[in-house]
Amino acid sequence: GHGPPVGAVLVPHRHGVPREVLAQPRGEVRVPLAHVLAERGVGARLVGREPRAQPLFAGPISRPEARGLMREPLEVYLDVAAVRRDAANLGQLAPRLLADAVLHVAAVRAQPAAEAPERDPEVVQRLGVAGPPQTVVLGFGADMRYLTGYVAPALERLTALVVPARGEATLIVPRLEAGMAGDAPAMRGGHVATRPFGETDDPFALVAAAVRAGARGNGGSFDVAVSDRLWATFVLRIEAALARDGATVALRLASAVLGALRMVKAPEEAALLRAAGRAVDTVVTAITSGRLVGRTENDVAREVRERLTSAGHEVASFAIVGSGKNSASPHHEASAKVIEAGDAIVLDIGGQFGGYGSDTTRTIWVTGPNGAVPPTDDFLHRYAILKRAHQAATDHVRPGVSCESVDQAARAVIEAAGLGERFFHRTGHGIGLEEHEDPYIVSGNTTPLVPGHAFSIEPGIYVEGLNGARIEDIVLCGERGVDQLNLTSRELYVVAG
Ligand code: ZN
Ligand code: ZN
Ligand code: ZN
Repeated sequence: GHGPPVGAVLVPHRHGVPREVLAQPRGEVRVPLAHVLAERGVGARLVGREPRAQPLFAGPISRPEARGLMREPLEVYLDVAAVRRDAANLGQLAPRLLADAVLHVAAVRAQPAAEAPERDPEVVQRLGVAGPPQTVVLGFGADMRYLTGYVAPALERLTALVVPARGEATLIVPRLEAGMAGDAPAMRGGHVATRPFGETDDPFALVAAAVRAGARGNGGSFDVAVSDRLWATFVLRIEAALARDGATVALRLASAVLGALRMVKAPEEAALLRAAGRAVDTVVTAITSGRLVGRTENDVAREVRERLTSAGHEVASFAIVGSGKNSASPHHEASAKVIEAGDAIVLDIGGQFGGYGSDTTRTIWVTGPNGAVPPTDDFLHRYAILKRAHQAATDHVRPGVSCESVDQAARAVIEAAGLGERFFHRTGHGIGLEEHEDPYIVSGNTTPLVPGHAFSIEPGIYVEGLNGARIEDIVLCGERGVDQLNLTSRELYVVAG
C-alpha cells in the first residue's frame, strides 16, 4: 500500500457489505468530486476542507471488492453523508473514477436516514403564520417525516408530534416503536422529546397534556393545527381529550403553516429529487429500448416496478402503461390489454427514492416489425404541438413568475393549435415527500415561483377512443431559470416491437 487509500467513498452495499474505497488513477485531472458529481447531475454536496492537491495513492482500481462493486453496479448506492465525512478526512478524491462508478450505478441510491436534514420542529412556530397560540399536532406521514426524519408506521396506534407555541416539541409514540423513533434525526439531535406510551395508556390524554403544557396561561381555549391527513379517528379523540374540561378547541389544517416550508426544497432535498430523476430515467431508457409488442400492459408495468426498485427506489409508486385507446385516459394504470403495432403508449412512472418522488412520462409509438404501422400524420402533428407546449412551459420557469403562468405557457400553445379541449388537466403538481403536493401548476394559483420549488410539467393531448400523448419532467426552479431533473429524450419514441 501507499498509505491510506484515497478516493472514494463507495458506499455501503445494499446488503451491508463494507464501505470500499476506490483508487486514484495516475494522471487524472483533479477536480473536486463535488464539482464532477454536480456536473453529471448527481446531487452530492461535499463539505469539509478543500481536497489536497497531492494524491496519497496512485494506481488502477486495485481493490477486488471495488471491482466487484463496479461489475454489479446496481448493488451500490451512494451514502452522501459518508462522502462528506470521508471527503473531509481523506483529502483528494478520485473524482472521475468515483463519478463513473457512481453513474454506472444506473441510479444513485441515497441513504434516507443518513441524509434527511436534521430539523428543529420549532421552525414551524418561528414562521408566525397564524398568530399565537398555535399548537401543531402531526400524525404519521410526510409532515412528520419532514420535521423529524421519522417515518412512522401508518397504523392504528397513534403517533403524534406536538409542536407547541412555546417549549419543547414532544413525540407521543407507542412504546414498541419508541426505539425506532428515537433514532430519527430530530430526536437524536435533541430537538424533540419522546413520550412513549404503553398498550393500556391513553395517548390522546398525552397529546392533550402536551398541548396544554405548551399553551400555558391561555385559559380554556386551544387553537390547534392538525396535519391534513390525520385520520378522523385520531382528530376526533384529540379534540375530545382537549375539550374534556370545558375548553374550546379550534382546529385548522397544518398545511397552512407547513406547506410554505415544504414547498421550498433544501439542497439535500433537491439532491434526492435529482437522484430520483436519474433513477427513473434509467427505467424509461430500459422500457423504451425493450420489447413491447405482444405483451400486456400489466406485464410491462410489472417490469417497470421491478426496474424502479432495482434502480434504487424503495417504493415503486405507480406504473401507468396506457396503450392504444388507453393512452387517451390520463390516469389509466395498466390492464390486461395486449400492446399491438399501431398503438401509442403513454408511460408514466415513478416511485420514492430516499423518501422523495420521481415522476416522468414519455410517449411511445409501436410500429411493429419493419415499421409496419408508422405513427399517423395526425398523431405526429399533435405530438409536435405537445412538445412545443412542454418546452414553452419549461422555458417559462424562473423565480418570480406565477405557477398559473407556467400552466398558461403550455396551454396557450395547445389552444392556439385548436386542441385546447384535449388538454383537460393542470400542467403540473409539486413533488417532494409526497407524489403530489404544493405548488400546483394550475390556473388560479398565483404563488410566485422561488428557487427550490419542485414540480412537474406534464401537458397532454388526448383524443378519446383513439390515443393520447403526454410529456412529463420534474423541474426545480433555479436561481436563473429551470433545472430539469429528467433528461431522457422528449421526442416521440418510435419503436418496432
Ligand atoms: Zn397524476
Ligand atoms: Zn406522472
Ligand atoms: Zn406527475
